[in-house]
Amino acid sequence: MKSNCKPVEKEHILRQKQDRMRSLRVVKYLEYPFILPDSPIDMEEGYIVSDRDTYDIFASFIFKNITDRQLKKLDVRINCYLNQNIPYAHIDFEYSHDLLTFGIIGKDDVDLKFKDSNKKQYIDKCETFGACVYIPLPETYFTKIELVLLSVEYANGEVVDINTVVAGDSRKYKDLDNITKMVYSRVNIYRSAEEKFPTKVVPQFGNTSWLCCCGNKNPNAAEVCEKCAREKEWQKNVIVSEKLEETKTRMVNDPREVTLHDKSKFKQNRYLETKEETQKKIEQYEKAMKNIALEEKYNESRKLLLIPKILLIVGFIYLLIFGIKLFIELGPLSNASSGGGGGGEQEAVETANIERDSYYLL
Ligand SMILES: [Zn+2]
Repeated sequence: MKSNCKPVEKEHILRQKQDRMRSLRVVKYLEYPFILPDSPIDMEEGYIVSDRDTYDIFASFIFKNITDRQLKKLDVRINCYLNQNIPYAHIDFEYSHDLLTFGIIGKDDVDLKFKDSNKKQYIDKCETFGACVYIPLPETYFTKIELVLLSVEYANGEVVDINTVVAGDSRKYKDLDNITKMVYSRVNIYRSAEEKFPTKVVPQFGNTSWLCCCGNKNPNAAEVCEKCAREKEWQKNVIVSEKLEETKTRMVNDPREVTLHDKSKFKQNRYLETKEETQKKIEQYEKAMKNIALEEKYNESRKLLLIPKILLIVGFIYLLIFGIKLFIELGPLSNASSGGGGGGEQEAVETANIERDSYYLL
């Protein structure tokens, strides 16, 4: 299994180690409440971070493989803008096992350990990747960055161009007008799911993936959301923008219906204080990255302690050998001196020979 795998270059290992030890502050949280309708890759989230020690600025993104196929490589480009509409700098970046840039790989909100992530050559279906990988951004001030997904390479070597700018329209639940929220409340059949997976966005449906109202991005083949288990068909037929608008028109035409079902204080609202949510997310991210840095520093210090430990063991072995040598040297001598006088000259010569031989043996 390992024979097909190219050895990872030392510089990539060093870079990864350096990245893991960074102490970071989140400058900006990037969210993507929309799908990229024809892309095999969807966006989970992104962060612009600053190194607390060096003040270097980086971009870090988390992607999701939305296809059934194993992914070997993703090429992206970051366009940096000043005030003009033309980007003043491009940064190309490759996510792959060969460069050790898959970062932390995860599935269903569970992240693999670094060691296991590094062993994975391919990204499987619905796995996320890219966390803890930092793309250096120019120091010069930039007003906007734009991420472009250039291409993917699958495990069989097939390369598919994406050329998609990461951008999209989204309708967040919290931004809906009160009447539309009321309509949603009336037609919602998944009230119990709201506790754990509150409705965050109006769902979207693309050719490769669909966005569930809970915010999870699912492959097109998934009939129910892989996170909250709400049905795809129900969402498509009842709560997409057009359907909500249709129902709203019907309800507005019959004002009695609206007043009868005034539920403007229903529960979803309290989950959607986005400022707090964003702040919580940033804190979680910084904490997770801090833990990684601490772990890495601990491993490093353990390695440093290894050298004195080895020296101690070597010293001990040396002393042991020295002791044995001394014991063997002194043993025959003391025998010879205690038995002196009784033996003849021949015996004395033999003892001396044995003594010399054992010395040389040592
Ligand atoms: Zn869902």
